[in-house]
Amino acid sequence: MENNDYIERTNFKSLIEEDGYDRIQDRLNIIDVFLGIEKHVTLEEMYRLVKEKGYDYEPEFVRQCMKRMVDLGFAQKKQFESQPIRYEHRHLGRHHDHLICTKCGKIVEFANEDLERLQSEIAALSGFHMLQHKMEIYGLCSECLAQRKLLMPLAMAKTGETVVIREIAGGRMARSRMADLGLRPNDNIEIINNNGMGRLILAHDCTRLAIGRGVARKIMVSLSDEKKDAACKEEI
Ligand SMILES: [Zn+2]
Ligand SMILES: [Zn+2]
Ligand SMILES: [Zn+2]
Repeated sequence: MENNDYIERTNFKSLIEEDGYDRIQDRLNIIDVFLGIEKHVTLEEMYRLVKEKGYDYEPEFVRQCMKRMVDLGFAQKKQFESQPIRYEHRHLGRHHDHLICTKCGKIVEFANEDLERLQSEIAALSGFHMLQHKMEIYGLCSECLAQRKLLMPLAMAKTGETVVIREIAGGRMARSRMADLGLRPNDNIEIINNNGMGRLILAHDCTRLAIGRGVARKIMVSLSDEKKDAACKEEI
């Protein structure tokens, strides 16, 4: 256990003892689990983590214990846009802000003194005494961004790859050709043959399609994790 966590735990113990709480050891086990994780956890995740440590506590007990930690200033509740309520450590005298990925939900913490000072100055300029603030930056994390960059024109996909249609870069011609073929964004297609010249042969919805290279350059795709359509069965 880190020294800091030890201090937090001892501090928590003396406060709940003073308040005359029962099940002190059980409550300490829960704070130990909480202090041992360095992320923003939901209640459900806490139930699971507590259980994984071998403790079989009722969810209501865990919930109450988390609430007590918030009330006593050991934990704080956070709710980022379109995410469930989460709990994180609250270390006295240490403040941080967050970057939130809107695609995968990843939360990254940051602390920047210049930014903190600037915010106080901005508030002071309006004669405002700042009590608290939250700085939340929403966007795409580096992993999600890298995935997005993996967009490529269908014409570059290799024989045997399965790709998913992301967008159509071309104008009306490409769009109407796509519609004629029954191809829609988010559809999975398997590249049956792309030899780098002429038409591409694709498998889509259990049929084979031939598509011109010009149109294939306008259809943006990314590699799909889905395996080939195993559901295609021979009609008897
Ligand atoms: Zn801040
Ligand atoms: Zn992400
Ligand atoms: Zn945080």
